[in-house]
Amino acid sequence: MNVTTLPKPPRVGLVSLGCPKALVDSERIMTKLRADGYDMSPDYAGADVVLVNTCGFLDSAKEESLEAIGEAIAENGRVVVTGCMGREAEVIRTRFPEVLAVTGPQQYEEVVAAVHEAAPPVPSPFIDLVPEAGLKLTPRHYSYLKISEGCNHRCAFCIIPHLRGDLVSRRPDAILREAEKLVAAGTKELLVISQDTSAYGVDIRHQPRMWKGEEVRAHMTDLARELGKLGHGSGNVWVRLHYVYPYPHVNDLIPLMADGLVLPYLDIPFQHASPAVLKRMRRPANDAKVLQRIRDWRLAVPELAIRSSFVVGFPGETDEDFAYLLDWLKEAQLDRVGAFKFEAVEGAPATSMDDQVPEEVKQQRYDSVMALSARISAEKLARKVGSAIDVLIDTVDDQTRGATGRSKADAPEIDGEVHLRNAAGVAPGDIVRVLVEDSDEHDLFGVPD
Ligand code: SF4
Repeated sequence: MNVTTLPKPPRVGLVSLGCPKALVDSERIMTKLRADGYDMSPDYAGADVVLVNTCGFLDSAKEESLEAIGEAIAENGRVVVTGCMGREAEVIRTRFPEVLAVTGPQQYEEVVAAVHEAAPPVPSPFIDLVPEAGLKLTPRHYSYLKISEGCNHRCAFCIIPHLRGDLVSRRPDAILREAEKLVAAGTKELLVISQDTSAYGVDIRHQPRMWKGEEVRAHMTDLARELGKLGHGSGNVWVRLHYVYPYPHVNDLIPLMADGLVLPYLDIPFQHASPAVLKRMRRPANDAKVLQRIRDWRLAVPELAIRSSFVVGFPGETDEDFAYLLDWLKEAQLDRVGAFKFEAVEGAPATSMDDQVPEEVKQQRYDSVMALSARISAEKLARKVGSAIDVLIDTVDDQTRGATGRSKADAPEIDGEVHLRNAAGVAPGDIVRVLVEDSDEHDLFGVPD
């Protein structure tokens, strides 16, 4: 049996100087880097690269910034400079020619690109929350928002608790402040990510914080509601929830979807359906009534799109377990399904379990799940032909006057797309009403309505 050894995530050290605004910038940059799989280093020695967010408001602040850059170079050597003093790149480069990159205030994309270059992210399907393609710079019209680190569960195939430790939730006011900045900077879609979004706040006992004069609990429902409200007044903002486990309180999200505050979209990593396999996987929220709950959710929000991922060939998975999974998938009619063949990862308990499944059996099971889910997806998409849907534009092609975007049912990189013809005049970030003319297994085709 092959055992995959995980690469170590790169570590970033941060020196943040200056005003509260600069601190928010630092927070935002770090959120993007955390979402990209970086670890934070509390000291110079452990960092692969050090980011110095400078202040250039007064001469004394400039001098302090230069000193901080000098210290980071002396202690670590690999330094990226950003922030207000980045406007005076020449002064910095003259004094510290070894600085790797200098970017100015609010140049989030540039500073993240500089860190990516200095210490490239190590994509790993075992630890990443953001799809590999999302590691390249996400365009400003959508942003990943990481609300917590770590996880309290101990799923047998997973290495995250070992690498990242137990759940540590961010304060709701800090998340909301960051989301507000993202929206002000042009974000039209917030993708909420964490290892277990439904567990958000459990570690801090859902402690409330003041936000715009009201208390907001560190709880998924409160957070989702407040994120949804950010769009009201500044145009439409889509809030998409990833990695939601079907705990009972997920029912409370459904009214928020019905009210248009969060997208009618749930990304629930079921991983399997057979109770025996789920038990061996030690999965949370392993509830026999899940199918009934999916039916209830769809009754309340008929346009709800459910995405999930499944592992086939987990140690001990029998033909009966797999047949159970296929039957369950036929019944659940999920909108989007990703499948993975079980892979043994160094340090995960399942790696040393008995009854490992042969590779050729894993492959057959994988092919069956993919074929079934492609058929279900094609049938569901065909039913949308003739209807009008909202599409968030991702890219445009001036030559063909075409555009590509996503409906509310499609997360970037992992779900399908909507391809538009006759789309002259639309721009990335626009939300356009589209008449659906055709469909295939994963995508829709249409024209602005
Ligand atoms: S819920 Fe399970 S699979 Fe997800 S991060 Fe936690 S331990 Fe890993």
